[in-house]
Amino acid sequence: MVLKITNIQAIPLHGRTPDSGWTQGMDPGENLMTLVKVETDGGVSGIGSCYTSEALVSASLRLLRPYFAGECAIEPERLSEKLHQSTFWQGRGGAVAHAISGIDIALWDILGKATGQPVARLLGGTYRDRIKPYGSILFDEPEVLRKKLEGVVSRGFKAIKMGWAPFGRVSRELDEKLVKTARETVGPDVELMVDAGGSEQFWPHGYKWAVETARMLVDYGVAWFEEALPPDDLDGFIKLREQAPLPITTGEVLTRRQSFIPWIERGAVDYIQPDVTKVGGLSEMRRIAWLAYDHNILLVPHGWNTAVGLAADLHLTAAMPVARWVEYITPSPYIEEIVAEPFTLDSDGLLPVPTKPGLGLEIDWDGVARYSGMRAVGRGGKKRVRS
Ligand SMILES: [Mg+2]
Repeated sequence: MVLKITNIQAIPLHGRTPDSGWTQGMDPGENLMTLVKVETDGGVSGIGSCYTSEALVSASLRLLRPYFAGECAIEPERLSEKLHQSTFWQGRGGAVAHAISGIDIALWDILGKATGQPVARLLGGTYRDRIKPYGSILFDEPEVLRKKLEGVVSRGFKAIKMGWAPFGRVSRELDEKLVKTARETVGPDVELMVDAGGSEQFWPHGYKWAVETARMLVDYGVAWFEEALPPDDLDGFIKLREQAPLPITTGEVLTRRQSFIPWIERGAVDYIQPDVTKVGGLSEMRRIAWLAYDHNILLVPHGWNTAVGLAADLHLTAAMPVARWVEYITPSPYIEEIVAEPFTLDSDGLLPVPTKPGLGLEIDWDGVARYSGMRAVGRGGKKRVRS
């Protein structure tokens, strides 16, 4: 069976967009995440997710259309590489790469449905059938943070990452108070991670701040220190990894597998964190994961995105010999309310890897319509129901 691509549609999500912690603030109406639906002549369709706006995905689809129209829909790696190489002069590593990410994920979904196999098996085989999600939240003032953490623990998470302001933006004393509050709230058995959010605009701190803060974090048993430096400070990360007494991580803003080569080959991190909805999809992420694995660096997916991104991360981490976590932004309607069967943590705080064909997701198209403003997106139609 050869399935040919007949259409690719961009589906924006907005209305309850989770705050990303950026300085300029975040309106829930902002469209930061966009689904793509790839349709084929055999009636099989696939779903992908892009960490960018519908305007940029739609513009990218116009650019990419001559290269995907009528193409074989069950050769994800070849077709994604064709899309990258055919558009190198526009958006290389930028918005076009973000759009290709969603297309690639959808193509793996189609390949799985066409062959009756879960994506994890198609990626090479399943080393595990469940994995620990870390609940991801933003830092806040101590008392608000305490309540947020209690909420995450009550939802069954055994690992929690706190990120961004006010950590690193006010004072050393407040930073320590936040981490102390967090440890006291969740107790010794819940893993805690800290994300400084050094990719924020005009990040003020350098290497010395990062080293001193790392020494404080280790006193509270923090599992890793993320984005302690700006995302392009390769030499800073190399030094920090050597000096810090806990694992150092970054990588969420990088795109294209080639961008990761110096970070991995020069040993800039303990854990590398590509986002499957930005980096180029599962095809690109798998190659980064294996390069990292062969340098004894753990891939921990960045996943501040959607149910589709989370499902892709579950399949990818299932197919790696060593994997420990996936990121799970919580709460998020774009994870919980766009699928017919929501993700459910077991009593160990682990998530099962989907076993149904493809990504193993049943999309709730009414749920998608609620946040896209597009009615009947599941049935090929495209009609705006609200502005
Ligand atoms: Mg981060």
